Amino acid sequence: MMKKVPEHIKDFCFDISTEDTVFDVLKETYGSYGELYKVKCTCNCVLFELTLDDHPTAYAKCSACQKEIILYELEFYPSAIKLRDTFPQYTFRNGNFFEICMYFEYPDDWEGNNDISSAAGWCYEPSSQVLIEFLNDETA
Ligand SMILES: [Zn+2]
Repeated sequence: MMKKVPEHIKDFCFDISTEDTVFDVLKETYGSYGELYKVKCTCNCVLFELTLDDHPTAYAKCSACQKEIILYELEFYPSAIKLRDTFPQYTFRNGNFFEICMYFEYPDDWEGNNDISSAAGWCYEPSSQVLIEFLNDETA
């Protein structure tokens, strides 16, 4: 069965293990509606700097190898309307590194991995043990 996940992030999305007590609890609320994934870099690192704008878009930068991962970007989704091209970006809680969980929901008549209807994202900072929802957006 094909994994339902947008193309730009598919290489960085992994199933959430039951031992992942922070993100595993999200399955109870969201697991039956869409797909939940933990974000992991190709270098295996799970801690990222988070960059957002109010568009919204969301990007993660690996704290180990500095690779940039697109978490959420409206221009890739067929049902999304992009109103403007540029919005000021800001580093979310600058100086902090987060573990990241992404959620993608698809319409019943989905036509491909980029055809999402909504998305959400959570970040967890291990040192403070704070879990924050940084993204919750409907594309359609
Ligand atoms: Zn990396």
